[in-house]
Amino acid sequence: MIRFDHVVKKFGDHVVLRELSFTVKPGEFVTLIGPSGSGKTTILRLLMTLERVNGGTIQVGEEYLTHMERKGKLVPADEKHLRKVRKRIGMVFQQFNLFPNMNVLRNLTEAPIRSLGLSRDEAEVRAKELLEMVGLSDKIDAHPMQLSGGQQQRVAIARALAMRPEVLLLDEVTSALDPELVAGVLGVLKEIASTTDITFLCVTHEMQFAQDVSDRVMMFDEGQVIEDAPPGKLFTNPDHERTRSFLHAVL
Ligand code: ATP
Repeated sequence: MIRFDHVVKKFGDHVVLRELSFTVKPGEFVTLIGPSGSGKTTILRLLMTLERVNGGTIQVGEEYLTHMERKGKLVPADEKHLRKVRKRIGMVFQQFNLFPNMNVLRNLTEAPIRSLGLSRDEAEVRAKELLEMVGLSDKIDAHPMQLSGGQQQRVAIARALAMRPEVLLLDEVTSALDPELVAGVLGVLKEIASTTDITFLCVTHEMQFAQDVSDRVMMFDEGQVIEDAPPGKLFTNPDHERTRSFLHAVL
């Protein structure tokens, strides 16, 4: 579960999020769409604790990301609390960000060993299962440089899953890929979304994918969610003129 409650985010005088509120329920797949520069990536960066809010609260599962409880009161989160909640959140980026000097297996086992305290054997068993899930069992010993962009992105997805996240954030995961590699990556994500109880928040320009996989789509503009509906409704019969003109421009 993810809940933003009246979240404000500014860069200097520039207000990017204006008392933004929304909830993604456990196991839901929600896609954020909206114009370039509107703040979609900022929402994901706040969840990754790469940015801090200027106001409001963010919850992940039962706990606040932005705050912690002390003597029955909510106080701003300290680093230790941030690290703890942050562990539940995985992210897959546009640029795959694999460790270039490690083979595929080590890319998948390093963080679970260091950060979740798994033994090497446990981490390797899990890594092999995940590589099978993303169709790359035969690449276990390869280095990232030896893989296509689509294969690297599938490794990056497996690496995020190796941390057993409760929430998975996807930021334009196919925009750095050649068109013929996009379908393979989206297919893997669709499969994961339908077979796990992970909560997904996805930013994408792939409207067909958003339509196929999302439980809900949120149209985001000028710091607020202006429309929030199942894809069947939002893509075919949106309520807002702003959504209509955005879809007209991108479809
Ligand atoms: P796109 O679809 O093009 O990726 P976006 O909707 O994800 O865009 P963001 O990257 O979240 O948009 O940026 C929102 C606004 O915040 C933009 O105007 C951007 O210039 C500004 N911004 C983002 N990060 C910073 C920063 N670290 N410092 C100053 N301004 C920033």
